[in-house]
Amino acid sequence: MRKQIAAANWKMNLTVEQAITLLDEIVSKNIKLSENQEAVFGVPFPYLLLAKDRISDNKNYFVAAQNCYTKESGAFTGEVSAAMLSSLDIKYVIVGHSERREYFSEDNQTLSLKVDACLKNNLKPIFCCGESLEIREAGTQNDYVETQLKESLFHLDPSAIKDFVIAYEPIWAIGTGKTATADQAQEMHAHIRNVLEKKYGNEIAQSVSILYGGSVKANNAKEIFSKPDVDGGLVGGASLNATEFAEIIKSLKS
Ligand code: PEP
Repeated sequence: MRKQIAAANWKMNLTVEQAITLLDEIVSKNIKLSENQEAVFGVPFPYLLLAKDRISDNKNYFVAAQNCYTKESGAFTGEVSAAMLSSLDIKYVIVGHSERREYFSEDNQTLSLKVDACLKNNLKPIFCCGESLEIREAGTQNDYVETQLKESLFHLDPSAIKDFVIAYEPIWAIGTGKTATADQAQEMHAHIRNVLEKKYGNEIAQSVSILYGGSVKANNAKEIFSKPDVDGGLVGGASLNATEFAEIIKSLKS
């Protein structure tokens, strides 16, 4: 069975003391994950190693970086390469979050290079896609997301897409408290899997974990995650609260 993942995206939040308190509180809940379940903590760069250390006794708990640069090394002040993250033994990197697309002008072509940099360095991208409210209201969200996938991922070999992780995050639902309904999430996830199937075949499409992101909370996670093509969530605001995020982890399908 493909992986079911509860991934936290802390964004640019928390001091180091707050980060330690949050991680320790979640770990103290001692949530046991099954073989196909994972809890992932997307923390700011300065906290990667400490987060890895705090969760190290918990099976299937992993750390994610929230970004990386396209280049391997060199004169790129302030950037962090996939090779550096790999040297920290980090498993995941969030690539193409809508905030990076919007505030840092990351386009589909740049993101394809970031995906390549991750894969070259044995890091698993959590590739984010999703439409704005304007696109949703125009009814063209399926084509829009398909283009995001095609332009950033479809140069990859089938072996690279097998077990890949995609996060569908409608921009209108991120940080707004306005969640897509479970049916809206399922509809888009089924579309994404169908797009993958057309290009890579059914077996590979079925192996890809597709997470939903956009105002996932403890009180809606179970319903959203219960949908057949929803394989967990990428969670912003609610991941900053130990009780909320613990409940979200517990809402994963087994
Ligand atoms: C996110 O940042 O990826 C996200 C989905 O945020 P929120 O859960 O706060 O909507």
